[in-house]
Parts: sequence; C-alpha cells; structure tokens
Amino acid sequence: MTLDTNQFRLLPSVDELLRTPPGEALSAAFSRPLTASALRFCLAEARDKIRAGGLCPSSESLLAAAELQLQQRFLPHLRPVINATGVIINTNLGRAPLSLEALQAVDRISTGYSNLEYDVEAGMRGSRHTHVEQVLKDLTGAEAALVTNNNAAAVLLGLSALALGHEVVISRGQLVEIGGGFRVPDVLRQSGCQLVEVGTTNRTRIADYAAAITERTAILLSVHPSNFLITGFTESTSIAELAELAHARDLLVMDDLGSGCLLNCEKYGLSHEPTPQESLEAGADVVCFSGDKLLGGPQAGILVGKAAVIARLAKHPLMRAVRIDKMTLAALETTLRHYQRGEAETKIPIWRMISTPTEKLIQRVDSWVQQLKQHGITARTQVGMSTIGGGSLPGETLPTTLLALDADSVPYALDTLSQRLRAHTTPVITRILHDTLLLDPRTVLEEQDTEVVSALLTLLA
Ligand SMILES: *Cc1c(COP(=O)(O)O)cnc(C)c1O
Repeated sequence: MTLDTNQFRLLPSVDELLRTPPGEALSAAFSRPLTASALRFCLAEARDKIRAGGLCPSSESLLAAAELQLQQRFLPHLRPVINATGVIINTNLGRAPLSLEALQAVDRISTGYSNLEYDVEAGMRGSRHTHVEQVLKDLTGAEAALVTNNNAAAVLLGLSALALGHEVVISRGQLVEIGGGFRVPDVLRQSGCQLVEVGTTNRTRIADYAAAITERTAILLSVHPSNFLITGFTESTSIAELAELAHARDLLVMDDLGSGCLLNCEKYGLSHEPTPQESLEAGADVVCFSGDKLLGGPQAGILVGKAAVIARLAKHPLMRAVRIDKMTLAALETTLRHYQRGEAETKIPIWRMISTPTEKLIQRVDSWVQQLKQHGITARTQVGMSTIGGGSLPGETLPTTLLALDADSVPYALDTLSQRLRAHTTPVITRILHDTLLLDPRTVLEEQDTEVVSALLTLLA
C-alpha cells in the first residue's frame, strides 16, 4: 500500500479549526483548552485513519467529532438509574431513596447559610448534634443520641472511645463480614481493641461470655449478623442477658443493629427485626445503626444510649473525623420527623415500597404489558419475590408480580437486552432468571413507569 502523504497535508491545524465559527462556538461552550484538546485527539485519530489508507476528513466532521467528545465529557458521571431488580435496599444502587421532603430540606439548608453550629437564641456557637438529638430520644427512648457519617464510623467511634486497649467479648456467630470490606474482627482491631471470641458459630450461651471476662474486659459486643442467617441447631444470647451480666461486672453492652428498623416489620409480613427501642429497653448501653438501610434516610450512623456513654463518644477526637455534614443532617432530620408524625409508611420511599399491596403491583405491571402489546411486543406477568437487601432481613421476601420477557419473544439475546437497558438514557437495571428477563415494579418509583415502558419500546418495537 502506498501512503498518500498529500492527505496529511490536507489536515487543518488545531488553530485553524478553533478559528472557524463552529470552533469558536465550542470554545465558548466548553472552554478553549478543552476544545483544543478534543480537536487534537480527533486530528490524531484522523492521522491514524490516513495511515491506514483513508482520506482526510472534512473540517466539519472533525468539529462534529470533537463536539460529541466534549458533550460526553461534560455529562454527569453520577446519574440516576431505575431499579427494577426488586431489591429494595440495594447498596450498589445507592441504598434508600430519600423522601421528597428530605430532598427539599437538603435544598433549603445547603443553598444558603444555616444554624448548623450556631445557637440562634444565644447568639453563640452551638452543636450540630442538637438538631436530631431530641427526635432520636423521642423515637427510641434513649437518654442521649449522636450521629456520624455512617454506621461503620459509629462502630469504630464507639469501640475506640469505650474500649481502647481493652478486651471486647463477642460471639463467634457474629464475627461476620457485612460487605464492602466491613469485617467485624478487622474493625475491632482498627479500634485498638482486643477481640475475645466466645461460643461457636451456631451456639453461644451467657456462660460463655461470663467465662471470658477478665479485668481487661470493657465491652460485651453484639453485632446483627445482617446478610447472614444461621438456622437449625442454634442458640444466642439476648441483650437482656448480656446487660445483666455486663452491669454486674461494671462493663458495657454495645449493640450494632446494622439496619436499625424503627417500625414493626411483622406488620408488613416480614419477620421480626430488632429495633433500637427494644435493645435499649433490654439494657444496652449504646446501640448503633445505619441511616440508609431500613430507616430509609441518607447515609449516616446513629448512636443512641446512656447519657454518660454518649458523652464519652461526643468528646472523643475521632468524632471530628466522622462527623455528619449539613446536607445529610437536613435529610436525616426530615426522615426522622416522618416517624415522629407517624407518616413513615406513606412518606419514606422504602416503606412505601415495602407496604405496596400486591393488587397495586399487578395493576402497574398489567399496564406495562398492555402498552407493550399495543406495539406488538409480547410480555407477560409472573409472580415473584422482592427482597429487602442491604444486609437487612436475610432470606426475607415480599410477594410481587413481575414483568417477564421470555428469551424467545425478544429479537436479541437476553444478556444483550439487559445490557441495552443499562445503556438507556436513565439506565434500567433488571435481572435474568431461567431464560426470562424480569422487572419488579416494587422498586421502580411510580413516576418512572413511563420511562421503563419507553425504554422497552425503544429497544423492542
Ligand atoms: C450495614 C452494617 C454496618 C455498616 O453500616 P454503614 O452505614 O454501611 O456504614 C455495620 N454493622 C452492621 C451489622 C451492618 O449491617
């Protein structure tokens, strides 16, 4: 192949392209340095093509290619997606969606100044923790409360402040990995505590804890096994038993509940999930839980407990490193107010999803099927199960009705279809089971229904 070197000479320079009217428009929209860098990239590509025997592209097409590149570079990287997986608290998809009111509170507080750390009445410095302390006390019956940026930080703070250089006794059945690298034994070590394991994976009795206590023990720790279920021949120790033993020996009981459900899960057809209220009532000195699991709020860690214990945490130097920010605090306070007003079930998205009646789900999926049918697409409904997720209520499911697309009724492989749904303007995340692509309406926000249908129509009609 002979190289047509004339083609190289026909290529315009970056400066020439920048001086054209479309080049100037791009500079105005995206800045001159970024436009120049995009043009350099497109010119390098053009040179590669010429080297491979191609012709010099027109200035117009070079500028168009640069514009496409600039547009993509300016697109937000963190984007909304539609969760059609049926996993309600999906950690990869951002856990709990916020209520509209929580979002409005974030807007109100963060677009201007606020009394974050200012006592308006006294005209002097205040504490960021006072904003949610009373409502947390009211909701859980605790003497005091404190918040951190997540529950992992709450556990780290609690152990560091209460048991540094001391022994922490925990059941072998609770030495779990929560996910995302949060392993209870590692967190204990990082907190400067010495781990003392007692009992066996499936059975731990109060006598096991009693036998492990030494003069170096500071805490009897209980950790919710979260995403892990031990069934069969099992025995565990209640918080009441731990508290009785601990308090007789001048020790503390710390209870990491993980999810921290404030409502009665049994009311929604789920099995019992221990609440912070129950744990405190049973005698735990400090209880911690997440803000964005079954609470349904923003990422946060919540610590409730005895006043003297919470005061020690508030004073600890780590507190500054794990403090909550104003946007989170605004969303958290608003979420907690929904519980205080008794409107959690209707206002908090995850509780709205959990409590959606099956008839409502059937109605929505039926309407999806009808709309697809009008465009000649065959889909059907199928009974299925939604799950709670987020390390809460492992193995617990809620009956649901799914939209099912069978492999033989779509024009390409299901993997390709699910990939193309993920490439939609608002990515739609689905699951494939036994040669069927499934979409669960329970986790799709109602206002996203039209978008789900239009994504399917674009790909299948
Ligand atoms: C989820 C969980 C954590 C971590 O909470 P984050 O809010 O994700 O930091 C800690 N402990 C338990 C038992 C959990 O389930």
